[in-house]
Amino acid sequence: MGGACTSCQTALEAAPALGRISQSLCSACLEIVAMGEHAPACRAILQGIDTPVLMVQSNPRLVFTANDKALALFAKSLPKAEGHRGGEVFNCVHSYTEAGCGKDVNCEDCKIKAAIVATFEGTPANEVSSTLVIRQRQDRPHHLTISSEPVGRFALVRIDGFTPSQET
Ligand SMILES: [Zn+2]
Repeated sequence: MGGACTSCQTALEAAPALGRISQSLCSACLEIVAMGEHAPACRAILQGIDTPVLMVQSNPRLVFTANDKALALFAKSLPKAEGHRGGEVFNCVHSYTEAGCGKDVNCEDCKIKAAIVATFEGTPANEVSSTLVIRQRQDRPHHLTISSEPVGRFALVRIDGFTPSQET
């Protein structure tokens, strides 16, 4: 196998320990993420993952931190991501309701929410897709695809796709 941790450059053990999202990280880096004590330290490690990743905490279910690829994808500054709900980070229209992302009546059947809730119960998600209306200059449906992986008390959520839908 070979290779080095994409965060700290330590040589990886023969078999990557864990899931597909974190597989480029060594067990020491992943342990720091799993402990989740210090968002900047976690974020620095997530920068080693080559795809947009949100680190989500449960109870309340909020974005704990995010790597730069995720911030760039959603055009958010770090303060607009950390401590916010997932739907707020990607501007889902249901995050603008009074109840808010995950609590609005329209969120009951949200497949993205269900996948992340299941991740906290130990079940990873593999390319779960949904079409969500995203608020930009105008509201527009987007296909959002995510994968997720439980890490400690957290869920790593990788954005596999975020593209405007062709339908109107
Ligand atoms: Zn490492």
